[in-house]
Amino acid sequence: MKTFLDWSAYRDAGMGDAYADIPKQGGDFAKAVAVCINSRQCETLNKGVMCPSYRVSEDASLSTGARVRLLKAVLNGDLGSRALLEPDLVRAMELCVSCKGCKRECESNVDMAQIKIEYLTQLNAITGISLRARLFAGLPRWLHAAPWLKRLPGLRNRHPWLARWGERLLGISAKRPLPEPASFAFEPKAQSGASVNGLPVVLFVDTFSYHFEPEIADAAQAVLSAAGYRVTIARSLPEDSPRPLCCGRTYLSQGLIEEAREEARRVLAALLPHARQGIPIVGLEPSCLLTLRDEYKALGMGDEVLELASQAMLFEEFLARELSAGRLKLPLRPLQTNGQKTLIHGHCHQKAVGAMKSMRKVLKLIPSFEFEMIEASCCGMAGSFGLEAEHQALSLAMAEQSLLPTLRQSPSTRILANGYSCRQQIKDGVQRRSVHLAELLRDALNLE
Ligand code: SF4
Ligand code: SF4
Repeated sequence: MKTFLDWSAYRDAGMGDAYADIPKQGGDFAKAVAVCINSRQCETLNKGVMCPSYRVSEDASLSTGARVRLLKAVLNGDLGSRALLEPDLVRAMELCVSCKGCKRECESNVDMAQIKIEYLTQLNAITGISLRARLFAGLPRWLHAAPWLKRLPGLRNRHPWLARWGERLLGISAKRPLPEPASFAFEPKAQSGASVNGLPVVLFVDTFSYHFEPEIADAAQAVLSAAGYRVTIARSLPEDSPRPLCCGRTYLSQGLIEEAREEARRVLAALLPHARQGIPIVGLEPSCLLTLRDEYKALGMGDEVLELASQAMLFEEFLARELSAGRLKLPLRPLQTNGQKTLIHGHCHQKAVGAMKSMRKVLKLIPSFEFEMIEASCCGMAGSFGLEAEHQALSLAMAEQSLLPTLRQSPSTRILANGYSCRQQIKDGVQRRSVHLAELLRDALNLE
């Protein structure tokens, strides 16, 4: 079996373990699947993220371990690649929301999110790629190449017949508003004052911050500058396409590894020189920035990705690191809170790398600021998953497990969510806007 991702990190997995039960086919990919020890911890409803599809259905065939068992059966069989189309496996894999809950919480760290990328790519090779998958995956390209298309989601949201047409032809749920790009994309601001000579930082502005919520990138630039850092906005190399940099996440989510590799190549070319000088690469959207640290290592692009990964960090991780090093000086004043605690919803990928500790540490910098972390699994939006007609109801059900009821109990509290998808799900579910940490800190800046 030819695999599309580089699974060599699992080369020694299960070696010498008589019970490892490594499937006959699939090489190192099969070893990555076989790290599961069948403990069924993923079929519990304890605190944590793992496994949203099991939590919402309590259907044992939708747990991480069930996916492993189905994949093992296929990799052990002599049924050829079409066995990947076996209906139970297709259903189990399509309902994995790639939250990485298992990568962190399962005692064997099964990385089903990465396994799903390989699976989807294998599936695409057999069945072809749907128009919907191409549309969602190609977002970074078409937003740049055809800016007039930015008005389409708004048009579709205002005309129910267009939404129904979109559901019938493309399978995009008519029950959801589509995220609407901002009228103006992100524009870096000129720096002034002390920060011109400050420590250098590269701000990686992802597709979502660039085209949909540029105010978040503005806020991040303002906060970093106010803290005295010299901010450079990550840009593609002059000899490359002038299209804004993109991590490639939208392609990976649809199993388009070649296109993701091309995005990664552009990012690497632009950011490696900075990383080699030890300059931190700071990102705002958890699933995008963490792609540089996680999935890039499986793209088979050599050791340079490790150099990039070593400098790639989330906004909150960077600030927490600087605070620990005694370098962070942010002039912050108390925020208007009406005596209410701010509720924090962590993105699954933030939780998967333990970044909520950094978030907590940074939030404590705001004088008299009270907050509470929401105990919830995945919000259920998971990129395009919640927009897909066949998944919309399940996606909302995931949010209704804990996140949305918690928010309804406090109807006028401020909500902080660093994930773009999480903010969309919250907006659809309780009609409230959530802020990113960068916006909260910008609002607390005391610049008088
Ligand atoms: S996926 Fe992890 S938690 Fe689930 S059965 Fe396998 S080892 Fe246990
Ligand atoms: S990535 Fe998330 S949804 Fe998928 S199997 Fe793991 S815990 Fe479940």
